[in-house]
Amino acid sequence: MEQTNIESLFQKIDDSTEMIQNKLNIPYLEGLVQCLEYVFTKEQTEEMDDLLKQQLDNHLQDIDVEKLEKEEIRKAIQLAILKGMKSATQQQHLITPDTVALFTGYMAQKFVGDQETIRIFDPACGTANLLTAVKNQLKQTVHAYGSDVDPTLIQLALMNANLQQAEVEFFHQDSLRSFLLEPVDMVVSDLPVGYYPDDVQASNYELKADEGHSYSHHLFIEQSLNYTKKAGYLMFVIPNFLFESDQAQRLNAFLHNHAHIVGLLQLPMTMFKSENNAKSILILQKKGENTKAPKQALMAQLPSFKNAQAMNDMLGKINQWFKNEGFKIE
Ligand code: SAM
Repeated sequence: MEQTNIESLFQKIDDSTEMIQNKLNIPYLEGLVQCLEYVFTKEQTEEMDDLLKQQLDNHLQDIDVEKLEKEEIRKAIQLAILKGMKSATQQQHLITPDTVALFTGYMAQKFVGDQETIRIFDPACGTANLLTAVKNQLKQTVHAYGSDVDPTLIQLALMNANLQQAEVEFFHQDSLRSFLLEPVDMVVSDLPVGYYPDDVQASNYELKADEGHSYSHHLFIEQSLNYTKKAGYLMFVIPNFLFESDQAQRLNAFLHNHAHIVGLLQLPMTMFKSENNAKSILILQKKGENTKAPKQALMAQLPSFKNAQAMNDMLGKINQWFKNEGFKIE
C-alpha cells in the first residue's frame, strides 16, 4: 500500500529524531525539537557535528514541507510527539488527541460565525496541537497566541507552528501570571489538572483555595476569562469530575457571576483508561452587556468518534441546537 504524505513525513522525522537522539544521547522529544528545527532552518544546531548534519541532509533531502498541507504536517508531527510522550517519564507531557482537537475546531467555527478576523488563545498550549488544529479549521484570518510553562513543549509548539507556516505568538511562562496580551475572542484549552504550587500567585484569584494549594484547573478558567473579551467564547477540555470536587460549589458560583454555561459535551468513554480519567468539553461565554444564557445549554454524551453513523447523528443534533439558539450557520 502506498504511504500517505503523513506517514512518509512521520517516518523521515522519526528516523532523523532517532539519529539525533542516539548521537547526542538526549530524550526523544528533545531530539524531535532539534530535528524539526533542522527541517525548518536547514542549519545544524549547536550540538550537531558535521557528520550528523551530513546524515540528516541525506535522510531529509526529499522533504519539501511547502508542498504539504498544514494538516498533513501537524498530523505527522503529532505522531512523532505521541511516540516521544509514550517513552517520556513526565506525566504532564500530554498532547490533546486529534479527534478532540478536530471536534473543538468544528465547534469553534460555529461559535465565531462570520467574523472576519479572530484572535484565539491557548494558555496551556503544550505542543500547540490543539491550537493549530483549531486555527487550521477557522476560515477567517486568525491571530493565535499560546503559552506553556514547559520548555520542551513550547519549543515543539514553536517548531510545529513554523513548519505549518502558522503565525502564532508564544509565551514561555507560568500562565497564571500576567500576560502582555489584549483580550481575545476565543480561548481554547486542554486544561492541566492538579494543584498549583504557588500559593502567593494563587492568592490573586477569586478561585484560590481557602487553605492549602489551589486547583490549577480552576485558576486556569479564571485566568482565561481575564483574557477573553466580553461576549467571547471559551472551550475547555476538563475532567468529568470538575463539577463534583470539594470546591465545585465555589466554581459554580464564580461561573454564574462571570459567564454563561453554553454547553458540556462528554467525550466518548472509550477514549479513556478509566472513568476517573474521562474528560468533557466545557463551553462558556463571558458575560457582556448584550449576552444572555442559551435557551437550553448544549448537553450531550458524544459517541465514539469511530462510529461514523452515530457521530453524524450527533452533529445533526448539534447543528439543530445552533439553529434553535439563533446562530448563523452554513
Ligand atoms: N493542548 C496541548 C497540546 O495539544 O499539546 C496539551 C495541553 S496539556 C493537557 C496541559 C499543559 O498545561 C501542559 O503542556 C503543561 O505543561 C501546561 N501547564 C501546566 N501548568 C501550567 C502553568 N502554570 N502555566 C503554563 N502552562 C502550564
